[in-house]
Amino acid sequence: MKTFKVSVVVPGYNEADNIPRLMDTLLSVLSPYQHFEIIFVDDGSADATTQLLQQLNQADVRINYISLSRNFGHQNALKAGLDHSSGDCVISMDADLQHPPSLIPELIAKWQEGYDIVYTRRKEDKKLPIFKRKTSSIFYKLINYFGDLNIEEGTADFRLMDSRAVMAFRSMNENDLFIRGLVSWLGFKQYKIDYHPAERFAGTTKYSVKKMFSFATKGITSFSIKPLRLSALLGFSFSVLAFLYGIYAIYGYFFSNRVVSGWTSVVMSVLFMGGIQLIILGVIGEYLGKLFIQAKNRPLYIIRDSSIASGRK
Ligand code: UDP
Ligand code: MG
Repeated sequence: MKTFKVSVVVPGYNEADNIPRLMDTLLSVLSPYQHFEIIFVDDGSADATTQLLQQLNQADVRINYISLSRNFGHQNALKAGLDHSSGDCVISMDADLQHPPSLIPELIAKWQEGYDIVYTRRKEDKKLPIFKRKTSSIFYKLINYFGDLNIEEGTADFRLMDSRAVMAFRSMNENDLFIRGLVSWLGFKQYKIDYHPAERFAGTTKYSVKKMFSFATKGITSFSIKPLRLSALLGFSFSVLAFLYGIYAIYGYFFSNRVVSGWTSVVMSVLFMGGIQLIILGVIGEYLGKLFIQAKNRPLYIIRDSSIASGRK
């Protein structure tokens, strides 16, 4: 059988406590494969992650690292790893062992059957905090409503991609990365595997509520202009209502004698219209801001140090 190389890309932010366990598990799961590389992307960690990775790389050249110059966020870190992977298939997963490495052989087997992308879906699990489950479920409902995508609930960045899909992915240089949306957009032959997530091995979540909120906004506004359309629709509906009310007001002026009352309704409608306009301006501003950032065309991440020879791509 033709030999192939497996790459495993793991972005991590302050995950030093998880790294030894993660690497042990990965090395043993990957040992049946002749060629493999692990690429850990250190997303500007402030703990011992960087030193630990250097030591691991000294001991085993199959463990590589890319240290970013600061915290660029999970999605950008993952892109850095995918950009520098050299495997025939590339697996991405979290550093906290919530994505079970034991699933890797199954992912590879499906790839060998001919699927280009093998993605995973997290089964609803009591092991995850209720807050995480609820917010995640609302998030997928929103993105599927607003976005023109159909991402299944519970699909995270734990997947295998064929090198062809990785190549296609690399060609995308958009800001505000929302990788699971891009992967769904890519197409290719995709296969889904369900799994039960484990509990976080060590440490606490690196996705603060603020990061989760910004991730959700990115997901929606990167894939859809529906919010803009809804704003226009809302504006239009209110114009129609205003027109009807205008007719009523004129009618009242000519044919009724109770016209002076109505201060409350005037104030209410002014405030209400003002509010609606501000919301719509905010939505437009969000998209304008995206254009502004994208127009600068800054790199999505900056590498401070890496065990992978530069120039390899
Ligand atoms: N992560 C990262 N940069 C960040 C935030 C998170 O590289 O700014 C990594 C994190 O170390 C982990 C993965 O992204 O490997 C998923 O994060 P986490 O497990 O904290 O999120 P949760 O599972 O709670 O959604
Ligand atoms: Mg996690």
